[in-house]
Amino acid sequence: MIPVTKPFLPPIEQYEAYIRQIWDRNWLTNNGPLVNELELKLKEYLSLPHLLFVTNGTVAIQLAIKALGLQGDIITTPFSYVATTSSIVWEGCAPVFCDIDPETLNIDAGKIEDCITDKTVAILATHTYGNACDIESIQQVAEKHKLKVIYDAAHCFGTKYKGESIFKFGDISTASFHATKLFHTIEGGAVITNNPDLLRRMAYMRNFGHNGPEDFAELGINGKNSEFHAAMGLINLKYVQKIIEGRKRIVERYTFWLQYIKAKTIRFDSNCDTNYSYFPLLFETEEALLKAKQLLEGHWVYPRRYFYPALNTLRYLKTSHPLPVCDDVSRKVLCLPVYDNLSEEEIDFACRIILRAQNN
Ligand SMILES: *Cc1c(COP(=O)(O)O)cnc(C)c1O
Repeated sequence: MIPVTKPFLPPIEQYEAYIRQIWDRNWLTNNGPLVNELELKLKEYLSLPHLLFVTNGTVAIQLAIKALGLQGDIITTPFSYVATTSSIVWEGCAPVFCDIDPETLNIDAGKIEDCITDKTVAILATHTYGNACDIESIQQVAEKHKLKVIYDAAHCFGTKYKGESIFKFGDISTASFHATKLFHTIEGGAVITNNPDLLRRMAYMRNFGHNGPEDFAELGINGKNSEFHAAMGLINLKYVQKIIEGRKRIVERYTFWLQYIKAKTIRFDSNCDTNYSYFPLLFETEEALLKAKQLLEGHWVYPRRYFYPALNTLRYLKTSHPLPVCDDVSRKVLCLPVYDNLSEEEIDFACRIILRAQNN
C-alpha cells in the first residue's frame, strides 16, 4: 500500500536512550530539560531569535489569536486545513474568506482589501503546501489598515522566504509538528514572534498564566508539551535535512511525469525556497480527478483530496459570498504520496496509473 504520507520514525534505540534519561530524572513535563533543549536546537536550526514549543499546531493558532487580543473579523483563506478556520471561531472571532490565487493556491493578496470592513482586525493566512504567501503585499495591506497578521505555517518547517526562515514573518507565525508533517514531535507545534511582549504573553498563556506557583500574570490554558514529545523532536531534527533532500527528489520525479499527465502543479513564490512538503496535482476537471483517484485506489495507492471541501462550506459557519477560484480548485486538487523512503519505482507506478486513467 502507498498512503499519502507516513510518519518518519528514527531508530528506536535513539528514542530509548532519551526515555531512560526521562526515567532517571523523573521529570516528564512542565518545561523540562528536553523541552528547553528542543527549543534551543530549533532556534539554532531555523536561525530564529524566539520560539515556544506548544501542544500542537491548533493550540498555536489559538494562542496567537488570544495573545494579539483579537476580537472581530479575521480575513482568512478558505483553502487550508480546518484548524485555521476553527481556531478563529473557537476564539470568538468571525472568519471572512478571501479567495485564493489560482496558481499558488494561497490567499489572493490583491483581493484582501475588498474584504476589509470596520470590523476587520487581522489577516490569518496559510502558507499552503510549503509555498510562501505574497508576504510583501499582505504586509502592505496590513500596515495601511492597521491589521495584525498571523501566518499558519504548519506546512513550512524548513521553508525559506528571501533566504530566512518563513516563520519570521507576520506578527506571529505558527507551526505544527504533528506526526504527518515533515518534521514532527508526534504531537506538537510552535509559536514564533519577534515581538518580546507577545512572546512573554504566549509563554505565560501556554502554562495556565502561571507567574510563579501562587501568581497568575495572564489568562492561560494548558498549551505545554512534554519531555517525550521533545525527545522525538530532538532525534528527528538530526534527520530533517536528509528528509527534505529526499522529498526534493520525490517532487522532482513527479515533476518529470507532468510532461505526460494532463494536470499541473502549483506555482511557487519566486522568493520562496520550499521544503517540498506536498505534491498537489491540479486536474483539468473534477471528473478526471475522480477517475485517477479511483484507479489509484484500486492499485492500493491512496492520494488525498487536500484540501476538500473548502472551509467556507463548514456547517457551523454562516454562508459566505461566492469564492469561485477556491470552489473550483478544491474540487480539482489531489495530493500525491510524499514521504521519506517513497521509492522511484513507487512514484513511477502511481504516475503510470494516472496516465492510464486519463487515456481510458
Ligand atoms: C496540520 C495543520 C494544522 C494543525 O496542526 P496540528 O498540530 O495537527 O494541530 C493547522 N493548519 C494546517 C494548514 C495544517 O496542515
